[in-house]
Amino acid sequence: MTVYKAPLRDYKFVLEELFDVGEIAKLPGYQDATPDTFAAVLEEGAKLCEEVLFPINLSGDAEGCHFENGVVRTPKGFKEAYDLFRQGGWTALAMDPDYGGQGLPATLNFFFSEMVASANLSFGMYPGLSAGACEAIHKHGDAAQKKTWLPKIIDGTWSGTMCLTEPQCGTDLGQIKTRAEPTERDGVYKITGTKIFISAGEHDLTDNIVHLVLARLPDAPQGTRGISLFIVPKFLVKPDGALGARNGVRCGGIEHKMGIKASATCVINFDEAEGYLIGGKHGGMRAMFTMMNAARLGVGLQGLAVGETAYQSARAYAMDRLQGRSLTGAKFPDKPADPLIVHPDIRRMLLTMRAYTEGARALAAWVAMAEDKANRLPDSAADEREANDDLVGLMTPIVKAMLTDNAYLVSNLGMQIFGGHGYIHDNGMEQLARDVRITQLYEGANGIQALDLVGRKMSQHMGRLMRRFFHPVDDYLRATMTDPALGEFAAPTYRAFARLQQVTAVLAQKGLANPDEAGAAATEYLRAFGLVALGYIWTRIAEVSLAKKASANGEAAFYDAKLATARFYMAKLLPETAALFASIGAGAKPVMELAAEAF
Ligand SMILES: Cc1cc2nc3c(=O)[nH]c(=O)nc-3n(C[C@H](O)[C@H](O)[C@H](O)COP(=O)(O)OP(=O)(O)OC[C@H]3O[C@@H](n4cnc5c(N)ncnc54)[C@H](O)[C@@H]3O)c2cc1C
Repeated sequence: MTVYKAPLRDYKFVLEELFDVGEIAKLPGYQDATPDTFAAVLEEGAKLCEEVLFPINLSGDAEGCHFENGVVRTPKGFKEAYDLFRQGGWTALAMDPDYGGQGLPATLNFFFSEMVASANLSFGMYPGLSAGACEAIHKHGDAAQKKTWLPKIIDGTWSGTMCLTEPQCGTDLGQIKTRAEPTERDGVYKITGTKIFISAGEHDLTDNIVHLVLARLPDAPQGTRGISLFIVPKFLVKPDGALGARNGVRCGGIEHKMGIKASATCVINFDEAEGYLIGGKHGGMRAMFTMMNAARLGVGLQGLAVGETAYQSARAYAMDRLQGRSLTGAKFPDKPADPLIVHPDIRRMLLTMRAYTEGARALAAWVAMAEDKANRLPDSAADEREANDDLVGLMTPIVKAMLTDNAYLVSNLGMQIFGGHGYIHDNGMEQLARDVRITQLYEGANGIQALDLVGRKMSQHMGRLMRRFFHPVDDYLRATMTDPALGEFAAPTYRAFARLQQVTAVLAQKGLANPDEAGAAATEYLRAFGLVALGYIWTRIAEVSLAKKASANGEAAFYDAKLATARFYMAKLLPETAALFASIGAGAKPVMELAAEAF
């Protein structure tokens, strides 16, 4: 069976030992977000995730959502769990206090969201989509819109969705056909069209559902420049805030899909539904883009979260399951066989899972903290604010794509460790692999993340975003690679880092001359970049672990495990970069020479 306990000790390591989360409490408005607050909130959140959300993960997958006459019913226990979630104030954690939120930092919300997604990825979709809708209204709504919609979404009485995708377009939103016709009321439109794949589009958890819908005005220019954003509620809201008539929004069905079966993925039909323009005419894509970093980091986090559950479950199984004898002689001669953990191949898989998951957490936390700084640093620290914003922009596609690609690998390794039992539904492991697969696809498929990295981020501001990573990492690795203790981590990372810099320069040049060169290399380049970034993070983890180990009261084993995992990463996982660089060096020709009709 799968198991899950919130990794609170690792959170403390990342927040307090590897990074200084105390810096967050120095940001304007976050005075109360001290390390103690972080620890207390996460401890409380852990209980909810372990005791309420995790126990309904497997049953939610088996039962799935039900659709009948336009109504969607979530699986048994979801409504009760959502009520507890809402009453506990968890929907309000990082939201604006002016609208009833608790005003805590994104970094804290980030760790809490990891626990939710580890415990029950499907459940997390409902508050997750609400948070996205909330952010859109908060950033782009006018005062009246914020007052009408935010308090109820923030207290969880209502929920939200993001309605972008249509049958003919997912990636290429320029093809959107949903129409918005003006009415005689200023700012009010009639929305008509069909959206598909809408997460939390219809369900029984909340009194109202507030859809954020991309649509096209009659005079709109072609393509993405002609898309506008609208608030379209399921129930209209009266001036006093009470729910009014049903709007012209209906669920046409739910998808039967590979995973996250307890998350309702809906067809939503808009039939002259009343909608309210937000973010200005033709400002829809701009409004979406401002939210994209947070949403994409959130999906990367979902990957790491599922990887954590897969790792914990596989570790427990490997300790328990008795099969065969150690190659070097029985380790538990009193038992009928040794536990799986003695076998090198099982250890290879477990360490791969651990290195990717713990490394991912530290990498993502680094970016989340930069996001808080980018959002909150005052004008007097404008340069630092810009530097953090650049780092978030650069690392977002890497965190989204690499963490989710690794998570699929990690959950598959988890299944492998369970052997045939991993393939059996009741043991929970195959669910993790099915559930996490979507994270590579939605919120911009991973191939699109790679194009974002090589096509936009690489050249943005004349390479300034790249320098935000390259310069400090170069300084750090040069300073540490000759250190007698740290060199074993810093030196291999530096070699891969130096190759990354060379490849970046070549790719930037070749891509300018022929964009297919950049396109053909994009996915491999993103992965190589991500692996180097993880190398840097694991070197920093090793540095802290070496320093802490000497004075660790009874916790030396914790730091030894970090060091062994860092060594494994350098020896067994980072070398993948060499193959990636060789493949990137082969250029676009092997990919492009076969004519389309010859496939
Ligand atoms: C379970 C689930 C939940 C979802 N939730 C939501 C939601 O809440 N709201 C919402 O609006 N949407 C949602 N989606 C839709 C999701 O975001 C899209 O499926 C995704 O954006 C990809 O679009 P598509 O499926 O149309 O694939 P396409 O756009 O047809 O892409 C197919 C493949 O081609 C690649 N590709 C496309 N264009 C290019 C290009 N120019 N260069 C290189 N490669 C390219 C893509 O990377 C992908 O691998 C959800 C989807 C699913 C399955």
